[in-house]
Amino acid sequence: MKITKLETFHVLPRWLFLKISTDEGICGWGEPVLEGRSTVVEEAVHVLGKMIVGEDPRNIEHLWQIMYRGSFYRGGAIICSAISGIEQALWDIKGKALGVPVWQLLGGKCRDRIRMYAHITPNVENPTIEEVCDWAKKRVNDGFKSLKTPMFAPVRHIDTMATVEKYVEKFAAIRETVGKDIDIAIDFHGRISPAMAPIMCRELEQFYPMFIEEPVLPENIDAMVTVARSTTIPIATGERLFTTWGFREVIEKQAAVVLQPDVSHCGGILQAYKIAAMGANYYCSMAPHNPLGPIALASCLQLDTCIPNFTAQEHPTTPNGHDLGKELFVEAFEIKDGYIDVPMKPGLGFEVNEAAVKEYSYDGYYTCPMEFHKDDNSLGDW
Ligand SMILES: [Mg+2]
Repeated sequence: MKITKLETFHVLPRWLFLKISTDEGICGWGEPVLEGRSTVVEEAVHVLGKMIVGEDPRNIEHLWQIMYRGSFYRGGAIICSAISGIEQALWDIKGKALGVPVWQLLGGKCRDRIRMYAHITPNVENPTIEEVCDWAKKRVNDGFKSLKTPMFAPVRHIDTMATVEKYVEKFAAIRETVGKDIDIAIDFHGRISPAMAPIMCRELEQFYPMFIEEPVLPENIDAMVTVARSTTIPIATGERLFTTWGFREVIEKQAAVVLQPDVSHCGGILQAYKIAAMGANYYCSMAPHNPLGPIALASCLQLDTCIPNFTAQEHPTTPNGHDLGKELFVEAFEIKDGYIDVPMKPGLGFEVNEAAVKEYSYDGYYTCPMEFHKDDNSLGDW
């Protein structure tokens, strides 16, 4: 079997799909995307594609090495996102060629269903505590047992008692709304300084957050270690880290106990599988990052099925939005009691409705929000 062609499709709201064709008529799909940088990743996909056209798509590790190591300069968000989507499509081809789901090729299944966690981010600017709690209630009514809430505004390097209390009150209200049986994670989004993060964590501990994600930025692992040692709340990180090399220091220094590689950024399904194995030696678990589209989610579900150290899967839907990709796939993902059943179909487990992909196409330019300015108009972290 030989790779013959790579085609890319920008799909609303901010997705990039990749179709890889072969000379045997089997096609594979991947999602090589970096939020807000789709057009740049698209170009990287086609540059890397020239290295693998004519090759056997089933030699996934070898082709990954060619794309990652073969062009001298390695890694980074753009290249790794491009490789990730290509790698997903290669797994899709291989699974379809052999008539088995991808997890079957990675050691078999470790579970029967996959725990999902949902966002509680109301679709309004500066949501009130009541609006956030309403949203949390809707998600629990949708069946989710695990939720995640963001911080909603930048925090100054050293901020006031009132700011701390505002966030603690918000989290307390969510906990009060959904009760003690629901997991609630908090995404600090790297917006908090190493000076403020331990204070926020100390005040939030009483409400048992499931984990705190990116309590500080992930570029300086020692800073994250400082925060991790200051609190009993589990620390999570990984969406802005790439390949096993990017996770090595986090794991070895025990900066985080929950690892969140993104299978559309970290290098793909097999890289995430290796990251899970590295983390297992330090008793870390996985909560793969995914605010992206349906092919990324399908890739996550394959990974989640076959790794032993799994906590929960991020699920990018809106309330009653069990239908991520409903019109793009023949069948939608179905949430039952907060879980999705292990996918049983060959490859990544779906068929793409190509007419819908064309219908939802756009030019690929998506601008990340830039409203995160502090009271002196200096830039806060997005
Ligand atoms: Mg995050």
